[in-house]
Amino acid sequence: MKWYKKLHWQIIIGLVLGLLWGLMSSLVGLNEFTSDYIKPFGTIFISMLKLIAMPLVLVSLVVGVTSLNDTTQLSRMGFKTVAIYAITTVLAITIGLTAVNIIQPGKTLPAETTKTLQETYSSSIEDRSATANLVQERGPLDFVVDMVPQNFFEAAGNNSRMLQIVFVAILLGIGIIQIGGKKAQTLVEVFDAFNDVIIRIVELIMLTAPYGVFALMASLIIDLAGDDLGQAMELLYALGWYCITVIMALIIHVFVVYASLFKATSNMKLSTFFKAIRPAMLLGFSTSSSSATLPVTLERVEKNLGVEEEVASFVLPIGATVNMDGTSLYQAVAAVFIAQALGMDLSIAQQLMIVLTATAASIGAAGVPGAGIVMLVIVLETIQVPTAGIALILGVDRILDMCRTTVNITGDAAVSVAVASTEGRLGEAHLDD
Ligand code: ASP
Repeated sequence: MKWYKKLHWQIIIGLVLGLLWGLMSSLVGLNEFTSDYIKPFGTIFISMLKLIAMPLVLVSLVVGVTSLNDTTQLSRMGFKTVAIYAITTVLAITIGLTAVNIIQPGKTLPAETTKTLQETYSSSIEDRSATANLVQERGPLDFVVDMVPQNFFEAAGNNSRMLQIVFVAILLGIGIIQIGGKKAQTLVEVFDAFNDVIIRIVELIMLTAPYGVFALMASLIIDLAGDDLGQAMELLYALGWYCITVIMALIIHVFVVYASLFKATSNMKLSTFFKAIRPAMLLGFSTSSSSATLPVTLERVEKNLGVEEEVASFVLPIGATVNMDGTSLYQAVAAVFIAQALGMDLSIAQQLMIVLTATAASIGAAGVPGAGIVMLVIVLETIQVPTAGIALILGVDRILDMCRTTVNITGDAAVSVAVASTEGRLGEAHLDD
C-alpha cells in the first residue's frame, strides 16, 4: 500500500495543510471565507463523532459486561482499572511539579506581557471563575450522586453525562447476566450485532477524518491569530518556556510511566503500541476531546492492540471521563507557573495540595476542549493563587489542550493494555495499516 493511502498519513497531511491554510488566510485576509466555508466541515466532523459516542458506550459496555459472565470478575477488573488510573495520575502530577520547579518558566515572563494579557482576557476569566464556583459549591459526594440518572433518556440526551450511561450499561449488563438462559442469550446477540454496526459507522466516519482535521486546524489558527498574526506570535514566544515545560513533562510521562507500566504488566513494545493507536492520538490532538475520540480509541485498542472487547469497552469509556493524566500534569505546571509569574513562592504543603486537587480536578473535567482550564480555577483557589492569573496562559491553552488530550487518550489505551494483559485477555497486536 502506498504511504499516502494510509489513514494516519492522510490525517497528518490534513493537519499540516489545515495549519498552512489557517496561517495563509490570516496573512491574506481570507478569515471570513475560512470561517464561513471551511470551519463548518470541522464542526460536522466533531458532531458525527459525538453522535456515535453515546450509543457506542452503551452498547459496547453492555456487551463487555455480559461477556464477563460473572460479577466477581467485573468487580476485580473495576478495582484494578481505578487503581492504575489513580497511580498514573499521581505520577503525572509529580512529573509536572518536578519539571516546573526545575525549569521555573514563570520567572522568565516579561512583566509587560503579563499586564497586556491580563487586560485582554479579564472578561473570559470571570466566565470561567463563575463555572468553577458552581462546581466548588458542591458537596464532596455529589459526583457519586451525579452518576445515577433519574431518567435514562435525559442521561442519553446529554453527551456530558457519559458516566450516567456507563452506570446504566453496567446495571443492564448485570441484569442480563443474572436472568441467564435463552432470553439473555438473545439480548446479548442483539447488543453484539448493534456493536458491530456502530464500529462500522465509526470506520466510515474516519474516512472523512483527513478533511475534518484540515477544517479544524484551519479554523483553530484563524481563531487564535485573528487578523494580527504578529501579536499571536509574540504571545506564543513569551509563553514558550511554559509550553516547553508542559510538553516535556508530558513526553517524560508517556515514555517513563507508560513504558514502565508495559514492562510491569505485559511484554508489549512501546513502538507497537504507538503504531496501533496513532490515528486515535492524532484525532485527540486535532479535536482536543477525549470523548469525541473515544469511538476511534476503542476501535484501535480492540482491533489493533488485541485488547479483548470486554476489557476495552469497560476500561476506555470510564477512562475518557475520569482518567486524564495529561490534564492533571498540565494543571500542576500551570498552577506553579502562574504563582511564579506573580512572584509567589509555593511551600511544599501547597505543592502537595496541588497533587490532591489536580487529581480531583482532572477526574471532574469532562473530556471536551478547554475543560482542564476551567477546573484549574479550583486548583488555584485551593493553593490561594489569584485566579486572575489564568489570563497569562489562556492564549496558549488550546495548543496545550491538544497535547494533553493526546496524552489522556494514550493513558486510557495504555491502562486498557495493562488490565487486559494481567487478566489474560490480551491477544496479538495487528498493525495492518
Ligand atoms: N480536552 C481534554 C480532554 O478532552 C480535557 C482538558 O481540557 O484537559 O481530554
